[in-house]
Amino acid sequence: MSEFPPCPACKEEITYPDLQNYVCATCGHEWPMDAEQEVEESHEKVVRDAHGTPLADGDTVILIKDLKVKGSSTVIKMGTRVTNIRIVDGDHDLDCRIDGQKIMLKSEFMKKA
Ligand SMILES: [Zn+2]
Repeated sequence: MSEFPPCPACKEEITYPDLQNYVCATCGHEWPMDAEQEVEESHEKVVRDAHGTPLADGDTVILIKDLKVKGSSTVIKMGTRVTNIRIVDGDHDLDCRIDGQKIMLKSEFMKKA
């Protein structure tokens, strides 16, 4: 195993540093060491709505189908506006309040308002 990051072009792990760049010994590809940081940041999870639009904390979304709230008989109707969502990790990736009740929703059943 190399202590340097694998080549982004050919995925080989035999790479070495050269000034501000890493160089791949296999294909000769060079890339800046700084790029490593950017890759890390882009790994942040992006939650998307039913149409693939990225959602962010504080967004307003609209339900595209009736949803039964887990553990209760409450049904949230299609077309309900949900304001001030919060992105969370997990199967249900949106945290919000509807009528004062804390509810977890799935982004795949929402569209951005
Ligand atoms: Zn390479």
